[in-house]
Amino acid sequence: MGVDKFTKLLDDDRSIMAPAFITPVSSGTTTPTTTTASKLTEAGIKHSSHNSNGETGDLAPLDASLMTRALTKSPKAVPEFDGPEAKAQKTMTDHMVTVSWTVEHGWAAPELKPYGPLSIMPSASVLHYATECFEGLKLYRGYDGRLRLFRCSRNCARMCRSASRIALPDFDPKELEKLIIALCAQDGPRWLPKDQAGCFLYIRPTMIGTDSALGVQRPREALLYVILSCFPDMSKSLASPAPPAMQGQANGAAKASPGLRLIASSEDTIRAWPGGFGYAKVGANYGPSLVAQGEAKAKGFDQVLWLFGSDDYVTEAGASNFFVVVREKTSGKLQLITAPLEERMILEGVTRASVLDLARERLSKSEDGAEALEVSEKRFTMKEMIEAHDEGRLLEAFAAGTAFFIAPVSIIHFRGKDIELPMGDDNGVYARRIKQWLSNIMYGKQEHEWGVVVEEKTQ
Ligand SMILES: *Cc1c(COP(=O)(O)O)cnc(C)c1O
Repeated sequence: MGVDKFTKLLDDDRSIMAPAFITPVSSGTTTPTTTTASKLTEAGIKHSSHNSNGETGDLAPLDASLMTRALTKSPKAVPEFDGPEAKAQKTMTDHMVTVSWTVEHGWAAPELKPYGPLSIMPSASVLHYATECFEGLKLYRGYDGRLRLFRCSRNCARMCRSASRIALPDFDPKELEKLIIALCAQDGPRWLPKDQAGCFLYIRPTMIGTDSALGVQRPREALLYVILSCFPDMSKSLASPAPPAMQGQANGAAKASPGLRLIASSEDTIRAWPGGFGYAKVGANYGPSLVAQGEAKAKGFDQVLWLFGSDDYVTEAGASNFFVVVREKTSGKLQLITAPLEERMILEGVTRASVLDLARERLSKSEDGAEALEVSEKRFTMKEMIEAHDEGRLLEAFAAGTAFFIAPVSIIHFRGKDIELPMGDDNGVYARRIKQWLSNIMYGKQEHEWGVVVEEKTQ
């Protein structure tokens, strides 16, 4: 198959080229030992659909069961949860997982090894052509003493979609999930002590094009890796009380929150557009947003509210999805509204999906004194939001994402005017309830299929 023809194929929906091979699913195990995957490889099953340049041959699939393990001899001191090191976001845990890929051979055996520098050439594809994508999720220490991931399979599937947008290689998302679990099982026990329920680490799976040829082309070499980082508790500065475990600690007392302060993007700065790559978690979406983010901070705002088009469609808030609770003008019904996915401008957040799922499941009927909500994924404009606010129909606005979790918004600044949402008891009723439900699942207060228990490795 010629390169051009293949490239064209890949430009079509990558899902039709989904992995054809089957790998065993052994959930929760750190080193899957089943041999089905290697047997398939031995049997000579061709994975040419994973080859990004159209060469045929036996390409090794990503296979977590082949992972090797080399542990550090000098484990680091574990810093205090949510302390200065976490805020600096420079402290990674003791280990990482790396897997290299080449167009000729496919995926090599994954390596779990001490955290440390990578070696790539100055000409590496990622450094010139932004062939990078990543994920962001958390490992939670539950109130039942167990470690959990939250809907991790969604992050792994999204990583595949992001990779395919920037010509990085395909893989079975289940195998990435196993690698993430293996790393969490290794470093979780020491970095998230059992008696510190309510703590978490941030997980950053990443893929880069490591090709050392300067030609503008699909990378012929890549590196997939997973690292774990100490991360600040950004939801603590927000309206709802700190998790019970944190209360009573010197720095953990719940403070009255000012809420998130957003400033609408200006007309000359667009985050994403139809046909672009806003739906992919690729590094190329973030570098170009930093000037606007810096300006927002300098003016005293937390995040940019990204608008699109001459009608000022509201899309996302920083690197979080954005929700409003509005009383519909004609029907008088309450609606939970967020931007739709169809145009592929916004990132399909795992938190977004979970907010929508829970709202549909638990808020569509009035209960416990709370009025029922209709859920609506649709375009809405700044004009509609201002009108709703002026008419007293804008009840809540909140951002939703892994980093900020569920963060009620107190101010939206738009072209010289402020939309204010007072942070009293009335504001944030729905955001608070949804946040509590999600937190219960993440920290094991409610057994739920979204909470994936990580069996801990005891050295
Ligand atoms: C990561 C991200 C989100 C949130 O996604 P989650 O899966 O909920 O963490 C939203 N918008 C953008 C632009 C993002 O990068």
